[in-house]
Amino acid sequence: MNIYRALKYLGAGAVPGRLKLVGLWGLYSLKRRIAGVYLDPVLACNLRCRMCYFSDRSKRSELKGVMPDDTLPLLEKNIFPYAVKLQIGCGAEPTLYKNIPDLISRAKKCGVPYVSLTTNGQLLATGKVSLHDMINAGLNEITLSIHGTDRETYEYLMPGAEFDKLLTLIKQLSEIKKEYGTRFSIRINFTINSLNISNLRDNKFWKIWEDNGVLPDIIQLRPVQKIGESDWNDFDLSTLKTDYDSTIGNVISRAQREEITIIAPTLKSLDEVATSQGASEAIIEDISYCYVSPSSIYKPDFDIRVENLYSYLKRHHTGYRLIKSILRQTTSRNANVTKKLNYKVS
Ligand code: SF4
Repeated sequence: MNIYRALKYLGAGAVPGRLKLVGLWGLYSLKRRIAGVYLDPVLACNLRCRMCYFSDRSKRSELKGVMPDDTLPLLEKNIFPYAVKLQIGCGAEPTLYKNIPDLISRAKKCGVPYVSLTTNGQLLATGKVSLHDMINAGLNEITLSIHGTDRETYEYLMPGAEFDKLLTLIKQLSEIKKEYGTRFSIRINFTINSLNISNLRDNKFWKIWEDNGVLPDIIQLRPVQKIGESDWNDFDLSTLKTDYDSTIGNVISRAQREEITIIAPTLKSLDEVATSQGASEAIIEDISYCYVSPSSIYKPDFDIRVENLYSYLKRHHTGYRLIKSILRQTTSRNANVTKKLNYKVS
Protein backbone atom coordinates (compact mmCIF):
# COMPACT_ATOMS: atom_id res chain seq x y z
CA MET A 1 0.00 0.00 0.00
CA ASN A 2 2.21 2.74 1.41
CA ILE A 3 2.39 6.50 0.55
CA TYR A 4 2.69 6.73 4.29
CA ARG A 5 0.42 3.73 4.77
CA ALA A 6 -2.17 5.32 2.49
CA LEU A 7 -2.09 8.49 4.56
CA LYS A 8 -2.64 6.49 7.72
CA TYR A 9 -5.82 4.95 6.38
CA LEU A 10 -6.88 8.39 5.09
CA GLY A 11 -7.20 9.93 8.53
CA ALA A 12 -4.01 11.55 7.16
CA GLY A 13 -2.37 11.07 10.56
CA ALA A 14 0.28 13.58 11.48
CA VAL A 15 1.05 14.48 7.87
CA PRO A 16 1.09 18.29 7.61
CA GLY A 17 -1.31 20.38 5.44
CA ARG A 18 -0.15 20.52 1.84
CA LEU A 19 1.65 17.17 2.03
CA LYS A 20 -1.66 15.44 2.68
CA LEU A 21 -2.97 16.79 -0.60
CA VAL A 22 0.20 15.83 -2.43
CA GLY A 23 -0.11 12.34 -0.94
CA LEU A 24 -3.72 12.04 -2.02
CA TRP A 25 -2.84 13.31 -5.49
CA GLY A 26 -0.11 10.65 -5.62
CA LEU A 27 -2.56 7.92 -4.64
CA TYR A 28 -5.05 9.13 -7.24
CA SER A 29 -2.51 9.55 -10.07
CA LEU A 30 -1.05 6.10 -9.47
CA LYS A 31 -4.55 4.63 -9.34
CA ARG A 32 -3.87 3.42 -5.82
CA ARG A 33 -6.45 2.86 -3.12
CA ILE A 34 -7.91 6.21 -2.21
CA ALA A 35 -11.11 5.73 -0.19
CA GLY A 36 -12.04 5.00 3.39
CA VAL A 37 -15.30 3.08 3.13
CA TYR A 38 -17.76 3.48 6.03
CA LEU A 39 -20.65 1.11 5.74
CA ASP A 40 -23.92 0.72 7.62
CA PRO A 41 -25.49 -2.43 6.14
CA VAL A 42 -28.64 -1.89 8.23
CA LEU A 43 -30.07 1.31 9.65
CA ALA A 44 -31.35 -0.09 12.93
CA CYS A 45 -30.10 -0.98 16.39
CA ASN A 46 -31.09 -3.53 19.03
CA LEU A 47 -30.32 -0.97 21.80
CA ARG A 48 -31.61 2.47 22.73
CA CYS A 49 -28.50 4.08 24.25
CA ARG A 50 -29.36 7.30 26.05
CA MET A 51 -26.62 9.34 24.37
CA CYS A 52 -27.59 8.10 20.89
CA TYR A 53 -30.28 9.23 18.44
CA PHE A 54 -31.71 5.68 18.61
CA SER A 55 -33.22 6.75 21.95
CA ASP A 56 -35.31 9.32 20.07
CA ARG A 57 -38.57 7.90 18.76
CA SER A 58 -38.94 10.21 15.76
CA LYS A 59 -35.33 9.76 14.61
CA ARG A 60 -35.74 6.00 15.01
CA SER A 61 -38.73 5.98 12.72
CA GLU A 62 -36.64 7.71 10.02
CA LEU A 63 -33.85 5.17 10.21
CA LYS A 64 -34.70 1.98 8.43
CA GLY A 65 -33.58 -0.30 5.65
CA VAL A 66 -31.27 -3.19 4.91
CA MET A 67 -28.69 -3.22 2.15
CA PRO A 68 -30.07 -5.39 -0.68
CA ASP A 69 -28.10 -8.55 -1.50
CA ASP A 70 -27.42 -7.39 -5.04
CA THR A 71 -25.39 -4.44 -3.69
CA LEU A 72 -22.65 -6.81 -2.46
CA PRO A 73 -21.25 -7.77 -5.89
CA LEU A 74 -21.45 -4.12 -6.95
CA LEU A 75 -19.40 -3.04 -3.93
CA GLU A 76 -16.91 -5.77 -4.75
CA LYS A 77 -16.63 -4.59 -8.34
CA ASN A 78 -16.79 -0.82 -8.05
CA ILE A 79 -15.82 0.28 -4.52
CA PHE A 80 -13.66 -2.25 -2.68
CA PRO A 81 -10.78 -2.23 -5.22
CA TYR A 82 -10.29 1.46 -4.30
CA ALA A 83 -10.68 1.09 -0.52
CA VAL A 84 -7.82 1.53 1.93
CA LYS A 85 -10.05 0.56 4.82
CA LEU A 86 -13.55 -0.81 5.37
CA GLN A 87 -15.33 0.25 8.55
CA ILE A 88 -18.51 -1.79 9.07
CA GLY A 89 -20.92 -0.10 11.47
CA CYS A 90 -20.81 3.67 11.72
CA GLY A 91 -24.13 4.97 13.00
CA ALA A 92 -26.14 1.77 13.55
CA GLU A 93 -25.66 -1.85 14.67
CA PRO A 94 -24.10 -3.98 11.91
CA THR A 95 -24.57 -7.38 13.57
CA LEU A 96 -28.27 -7.15 12.69
CA TYR A 97 -27.17 -7.78 9.08
CA LYS A 98 -26.89 -11.47 8.27
CA ASN A 99 -24.21 -11.35 5.55
CA ILE A 100 -21.28 -9.77 7.37
CA PRO A 101 -18.83 -12.66 6.82
CA ASP A 102 -19.65 -12.54 3.09
CA LEU A 103 -19.16 -8.76 3.07
CA ILE A 104 -15.79 -9.10 4.78
CA SER A 105 -14.57 -11.88 2.51
CA ARG A 106 -15.53 -9.90 -0.59
CA ALA A 107 -13.55 -6.91 0.73
CA LYS A 108 -10.57 -9.11 1.50
CA LYS A 109 -10.78 -10.78 -1.93
CA CYS A 110 -10.35 -7.27 -3.36
CA GLY A 111 -7.30 -6.73 -1.16
CA VAL A 112 -8.78 -4.18 1.28
CA PRO A 113 -5.94 -3.98 3.83
CA TYR A 114 -7.95 -3.31 6.97
CA VAL A 115 -11.50 -4.29 7.91
CA SER A 116 -13.02 -3.22 11.20
CA LEU A 117 -16.42 -3.83 12.80
CA THR A 118 -17.99 -1.39 15.29
CA THR A 119 -20.63 -3.04 17.45
CA ASN A 120 -22.29 -3.05 20.86
CA GLY A 121 -21.41 -6.77 20.91
CA GLN A 122 -24.64 -8.02 22.48
CA LEU A 123 -25.57 -10.36 19.63
CA LEU A 124 -22.01 -11.66 19.41
CA ALA A 125 -22.17 -12.65 23.06
CA THR A 126 -25.29 -14.74 22.53
CA GLY A 127 -23.59 -16.66 19.72
CA LYS A 128 -26.44 -15.78 17.35
CA VAL A 129 -23.83 -13.99 15.28
CA SER A 130 -20.42 -15.62 15.03
CA LEU A 131 -17.35 -13.47 15.56
CA HIS A 132 -15.20 -16.46 14.57
CA ASP A 133 -16.84 -16.55 11.14
CA MET A 134 -16.01 -12.88 10.68
CA ILE A 135 -12.41 -13.29 11.76
CA ASN A 136 -12.01 -16.30 9.50
CA ALA A 137 -13.37 -14.15 6.67
CA GLY A 138 -10.60 -11.62 7.37
CA LEU A 139 -11.86 -9.19 10.03
CA ASN A 140 -8.88 -7.30 11.46
CA GLU A 141 -10.49 -5.47 14.36
CA ILE A 142 -13.56 -5.24 16.55
CA THR A 143 -14.50 -1.86 18.03
CA LEU A 144 -16.68 -2.40 21.03
CA SER A 145 -18.92 0.51 22.05
CA ILE A 146 -19.39 0.56 25.80
CA HIS A 147 -20.83 3.37 27.92
CA GLY A 148 -20.06 1.92 31.34
CA THR A 149 -17.77 -0.60 33.01
CA ASP A 150 -20.03 -1.52 35.93
CA ARG A 151 -23.45 -3.18 35.71
CA GLU A 152 -25.51 -0.24 36.89
CA THR A 153 -23.94 2.39 34.64
CA TYR A 154 -23.72 0.11 31.60
CA GLU A 155 -27.33 -1.03 31.74
CA TYR A 156 -28.66 2.44 32.58
CA LEU A 157 -26.87 4.17 29.70
CA MET A 158 -27.43 1.35 27.20
CA PRO A 159 -31.09 0.29 27.57
CA GLY A 160 -31.60 -3.15 26.05
CA ALA A 161 -28.04 -4.29 26.81
CA GLU A 162 -27.10 -6.80 29.51
CA PHE A 163 -23.89 -6.48 31.48
CA ASP A 164 -23.59 -10.27 31.72
CA LYS A 165 -23.48 -10.45 27.93
CA LEU A 166 -20.67 -7.90 27.89
CA LEU A 167 -18.72 -10.10 30.33
CA THR A 168 -19.42 -13.18 28.20
CA LEU A 169 -18.13 -11.36 25.14
CA ILE A 170 -14.95 -10.24 26.92
CA LYS A 171 -14.33 -13.91 27.89
CA GLN A 172 -14.78 -14.86 24.22
CA LEU A 173 -12.37 -12.11 23.18
CA SER A 174 -9.82 -13.42 25.64
CA GLU A 175 -9.93 -16.85 23.94
CA ILE A 176 -9.86 -15.26 20.49
CA LYS A 177 -6.75 -13.24 21.36
CA LYS A 178 -5.01 -16.44 22.46
CA GLU A 179 -5.85 -17.98 19.11
CA TYR A 180 -5.21 -15.05 16.77
CA GLY A 181 -2.75 -12.84 18.70
CA THR A 182 -1.81 -9.62 16.94
CA ARG A 183 -3.69 -10.63 13.77
CA PHE A 184 -6.84 -9.40 15.49
CA SER A 185 -7.27 -6.20 17.51
CA ILE A 186 -9.72 -5.14 20.18
CA ARG A 187 -10.61 -1.47 20.26
CA ILE A 188 -12.81 0.13 22.89
CA ASN A 189 -14.95 3.13 22.17
CA PHE A 190 -16.04 4.75 25.43
CA THR A 191 -18.20 7.89 25.32
CA ILE A 192 -17.74 9.87 28.54
CA ASN A 193 -20.46 11.81 30.31
CA SER A 194 -21.03 13.19 33.81
CA LEU A 195 -22.46 9.85 34.96
CA ASN A 196 -19.97 7.30 33.66
CA ILE A 197 -16.88 9.43 34.30
CA SER A 198 -16.60 7.65 37.67
CA ASN A 199 -15.85 4.47 35.68
CA LEU A 200 -12.54 6.03 34.68
CA ARG A 201 -11.33 6.41 38.27
CA ASP A 202 -8.93 4.08 40.08
CA ASN A 203 -9.03 0.62 38.49
CA LYS A 204 -12.67 0.71 37.44
CA PHE A 205 -12.08 0.97 33.70
CA TRP A 206 -9.73 -2.01 33.66
CA LYS A 207 -11.29 -4.49 36.06
CA ILE A 208 -13.65 -6.21 33.61
CA TRP A 209 -10.69 -6.82 31.31
CA GLU A 210 -8.22 -7.92 33.96
CA ASP A 211 -10.77 -10.35 35.44
CA ASN A 212 -10.99 -12.05 32.05
CA GLY A 213 -7.29 -12.11 31.23
CA VAL A 214 -7.27 -9.78 28.25
CA LEU A 215 -6.67 -6.06 27.67
CA PRO A 216 -7.78 -3.95 24.72
CA ASP A 217 -5.23 -3.04 22.05
CA ILE A 218 -6.64 0.42 21.39
CA ILE A 219 -8.80 2.68 23.56
CA GLN A 220 -10.76 5.69 22.36
CA LEU A 221 -12.22 8.00 24.98
CA ARG A 222 -14.52 10.68 23.65
CA PRO A 223 -16.63 13.19 25.55
CA VAL A 224 -20.34 13.12 24.81
CA GLN A 225 -21.42 15.47 22.02
CA LYS A 226 -24.83 16.43 20.81
CA ILE A 227 -25.29 14.64 17.51
CA GLY A 228 -29.05 14.94 17.24
CA GLU A 229 -31.95 14.43 19.60
CA SER A 230 -31.48 11.87 22.35
CA ASP A 231 -32.50 11.05 25.94
CA TRP A 232 -29.26 12.57 27.19
CA ASN A 233 -29.26 16.32 27.83
CA ASP A 234 -26.16 16.99 29.87
CA PHE A 235 -23.37 18.18 27.60
CA ASP A 236 -21.56 20.18 30.27
CA LEU A 237 -17.92 19.09 30.27
CA SER A 238 -16.94 20.87 33.49
CA THR A 239 -16.65 17.65 35.57
CA LEU A 240 -14.45 16.15 32.87
CA LYS A 241 -12.20 19.17 33.13
CA THR A 242 -12.04 19.48 36.93
CA ASP A 243 -11.52 15.73 37.38
CA TYR A 244 -9.35 15.21 34.29
CA ASP A 245 -6.26 13.83 36.04
CA SER A 246 -8.11 11.28 38.16
CA THR A 247 -10.32 10.08 35.26
CA ILE A 248 -9.20 10.52 31.64
CA GLY A 249 -5.60 11.16 32.71
CA ASN A 250 -5.76 8.08 34.95
CA VAL A 251 -6.78 5.81 32.04
CA ILE A 252 -4.19 7.41 29.74
CA SER A 253 -1.38 6.73 32.27
CA ARG A 254 -2.23 3.06 32.65
CA ALA A 255 -2.66 2.62 28.89
CA GLN A 256 0.77 4.13 28.30
CA ARG A 257 2.30 1.79 30.89
CA GLU A 258 0.67 -1.19 29.18
CA GLU A 259 1.72 0.10 25.72
CA ILE A 260 -1.90 0.30 24.66
CA THR A 261 -2.70 2.87 21.99
CA ILE A 262 -4.96 5.50 23.48
CA ILE A 263 -6.87 8.18 21.64
CA ALA A 264 -8.19 10.70 24.12
CA PRO A 265 -8.76 14.43 24.49
CA THR A 266 -6.20 16.56 26.22
CA LEU A 267 -7.40 18.87 28.96
CA LYS A 268 -6.94 21.80 26.59
CA SER A 269 -8.87 20.20 23.77
CA LEU A 270 -11.96 19.74 25.96
CA ASP A 271 -12.51 23.45 25.34
CA GLU A 272 -12.31 22.96 21.59
CA VAL A 273 -15.25 20.73 20.75
CA ALA A 274 -15.96 22.76 17.63
CA THR A 275 -12.72 23.10 15.73
CA SER A 276 -12.11 24.43 12.28
CA GLN A 277 -11.45 22.00 9.48
CA GLY A 278 -8.81 23.29 7.11
CA ALA A 279 -9.27 23.46 3.35
CA SER A 280 -6.98 20.46 2.79
CA GLU A 281 -8.92 18.28 5.26
CA ALA A 282 -12.19 19.33 3.63
CA ILE A 283 -11.09 18.30 0.14
CA ILE A 284 -9.50 15.08 1.40
CA GLU A 285 -12.75 14.18 3.15
CA ASP A 286 -14.81 15.11 0.10
CA ILE A 287 -12.78 12.79 -2.13
CA SER A 288 -11.86 9.92 0.14
CA TYR A 289 -14.80 9.57 2.55
CA CYS A 290 -17.14 6.97 1.08
CA TYR A 291 -20.26 6.33 3.16
CA VAL A 292 -22.48 3.41 2.17
CA SER A 293 -25.90 2.68 3.64
CA PRO A 294 -29.12 1.03 2.44
CA SER A 295 -30.21 4.42 1.09
CA SER A 296 -27.01 5.99 -0.26
CA ILE A 297 -23.65 5.12 -1.76
CA TYR A 298 -20.82 7.68 -1.77
CA LYS A 299 -22.32 10.73 -3.58
CA PRO A 300 -25.83 11.55 -4.80
CA ASP A 301 -24.61 11.50 -8.45
CA PHE A 302 -22.56 8.31 -8.10
CA ASP A 303 -24.26 5.30 -9.71
CA ILE A 304 -22.59 2.09 -8.56
CA ARG A 305 -24.35 0.09 -11.29
CA VAL A 306 -22.53 1.86 -14.11
CA GLU A 307 -19.30 3.30 -12.73
CA ASN A 308 -16.57 2.67 -10.23
CA LEU A 309 -15.16 5.03 -7.65
CA TYR A 310 -12.14 5.88 -9.76
CA SER A 311 -14.13 6.66 -12.91
CA TYR A 312 -16.41 8.87 -10.80
CA LEU A 313 -13.39 10.81 -9.52
CA LYS A 314 -12.06 11.10 -13.06
CA ARG A 315 -15.42 12.40 -14.26
CA HIS A 316 -15.14 15.07 -11.57
CA HIS A 317 -11.61 16.14 -12.62
CA THR A 318 -10.14 15.08 -9.30
CA GLY A 319 -6.50 15.31 -10.44
CA TYR A 320 -7.03 18.91 -11.54
CA ARG A 321 -8.94 19.78 -8.35
CA LEU A 322 -6.14 18.40 -6.21
CA ILE A 323 -3.40 20.23 -8.10
CA LYS A 324 -5.38 23.47 -7.88
CA SER A 325 -5.79 22.97 -4.12
CA ILE A 326 -2.12 22.13 -3.64
CA LEU A 327 -1.14 25.37 -5.38
CA ARG A 328 -3.67 27.46 -3.51
CA GLN A 329 -3.52 25.75 -0.17
CA THR A 330 -2.52 27.02 3.29
CA THR A 331 -5.30 29.52 3.78
CA SER A 332 -7.81 28.92 6.52
CA ARG A 333 -10.33 31.15 4.76
CA ASN A 334 -12.12 28.11 3.39
CA ALA A 335 -12.20 26.42 6.74
CA ASN A 336 -15.32 24.54 7.73
CA VAL A 337 -16.42 23.97 11.28
CA THR A 338 -16.35 20.37 12.34
CA LYS A 339 -17.42 18.67 15.56
CA LYS A 340 -14.28 16.52 15.56
CA LEU A 341 -12.26 16.89 18.72
CA ASN A 342 -8.54 17.37 18.70
CA TYR A 343 -7.69 13.98 20.15
CA LYS A 344 -4.24 13.02 21.18
CA VAL A 345 -2.89 9.60 20.25
CA SER A 346 -0.38 8.12 22.67
S1 SF4 B 1 -25.30 0.57 20.26
FE1 SF4 B 1 -24.48 2.29 19.11
S2 SF4 B 1 -25.98 2.65 17.47
FE2 SF4 B 1 -26.98 1.35 19.00
S3 SF4 B 1 -28.09 2.74 20.30
FE3 SF4 B 1 -26.09 2.37 21.25
S4 SF4 B 1 -24.74 4.03 20.50
FE4 SF4 B 1 -26.57 3.96 19.18
